[in-house]
Amino acid sequence: MKICMVGTGYVGLVTGTCFAEMGNDVICVDIDKDKIDKLNKGIVPIYEPGLEDMIKRNMKESRLSFTTDIKEGIEKSRFIFIAVGTPPDEDGSADLKYVLSVAKDIGKYMNGYKVVVDKSTVPVGTAQKVRKVIEEELKKRKVNYEFDVVSNPEFLKEGSAIEDFMKPDRIVIGVDNERVAVLMEELYDPFVKNNHPIIKMNVVSAELTKYAANAFLATKISFMNMLSRLCEKVGADINDIRKGIGSDSRIGYSFLYAGVGFGGSCFPKDVKALIKTLHEKEVNPCILECVEKINEEQKLLLVKKVINYFGENLSGLTFAIWGLSFKPRTDDMREAPSIVIIRELVKRGAKIQAYDPEAMNEAKRIFKDIEEHIFYANSNYEALKNADAMLLVTEWSVFRKPDFTRMKKLMKRPVIFDGRNQYIPAEMKEYGFEYFSIGKPPVRLEK
Ligand code: NAD
Repeated sequence: MKICMVGTGYVGLVTGTCFAEMGNDVICVDIDKDKIDKLNKGIVPIYEPGLEDMIKRNMKESRLSFTTDIKEGIEKSRFIFIAVGTPPDEDGSADLKYVLSVAKDIGKYMNGYKVVVDKSTVPVGTAQKVRKVIEEELKKRKVNYEFDVVSNPEFLKEGSAIEDFMKPDRIVIGVDNERVAVLMEELYDPFVKNNHPIIKMNVVSAELTKYAANAFLATKISFMNMLSRLCEKVGADINDIRKGIGSDSRIGYSFLYAGVGFGGSCFPKDVKALIKTLHEKEVNPCILECVEKINEEQKLLLVKKVINYFGENLSGLTFAIWGLSFKPRTDDMREAPSIVIIRELVKRGAKIQAYDPEAMNEAKRIFKDIEEHIFYANSNYEALKNADAMLLVTEWSVFRKPDFTRMKKLMKRPVIFDGRNQYIPAEMKEYGFEYFSIGKPPVRLEK
């Protein structure tokens, strides 16, 4: 099938490449010329395990191409996917300007029947808006091509995006007629050989399903973060609570980790956007307002622990930061807790020695304004040299079993603030570390 993927970011690039991998002809379009030039040279602008090889293979076999020419992409394709960003507007609602600008281009350039697929995460009613914009453009051109607008939200996770897309738990398609339902099912059939379902529903239900999924997962995280604070007050252990409730099949274990709060390009903005929609429709969004508030507080929790230990003024102190991306196996730092933590430490006079396996370039861009306070280390161990404490912010697997003896030798003081509960407190005590984690009793050394 012939597919045009508009927007070549985390979602568009993975989605387009995976469709090509299944034998489709895919043209990926982006307005970012630099990104397209790089892709045409085989340089992949994001880190996503397995993606680079798959892109190169499909380009070589002429199933995947990259261009800034949206006209060509639209004219040559039956399916046009809109996979552009939907960042939060000033009032928290999803900003649809990129989506609607693509819709306008589709109306301008379409040359026959097209299936327009909203892949971006968009609020209820967006498919209707996309339809209207396309119709207005067709009217201007005085042509009358048929088209369908489908909602097909994406559930892939950065870090395992290829696996998620190739073998999805489910595919949700929101359609308003059987003709387009059949076409979408044909397109996705190769991805559900594992018998996982294609769930068909009406368009608004599909639009809402994506927000429901992300808001629910964010709620689980904030619930555990709230409980972790209680654990610290009463001497309970949040990991034991997780095991105790996760073993209940009605609850399950996933997304029940306490930590430094959720970040990334999706959860924060999607929670915000759903709150906005709930307000607009006069439904009380109180649960999600608390989810958001707990998360904002949680991002500063490690800094609070640092202040409890070292005092309010951190000047003259050096902190090693392990992990900068918002989660492991990605270089994405959008809304990453590390940003809030590093800025607050620097504001209080501290020096930072940071290390991340993939997000160093992204960090250098984000922290340009405070670059003189940050040293970017070549390894997690180098980041520890003469540090007064280490803060573990992202749970990359290389940080899970480090050489604690070597760490202790490198650091000025053996103090760890673990924002992801990666280490065993009793072991930390044996190695001679003071150890502060989330929702567990601290390990203090006898003075
Ligand atoms: P992104 O910012 O990485 O990529 C968006 C791309 O769209 C950019 O390359 C940008 O240059 C391009 N673009 C913008 N306007 C354009 C236009 N008019 N024509 C062509 N290209 C244009 O965003 P992303 O993370 O890929 O997210 C895209 C959408 O998918 C969002 O709505 C997001 O909420 C949703 N989503 C993201 C994830 C994720 O893990 N990142 C997962 C599921 C859903």
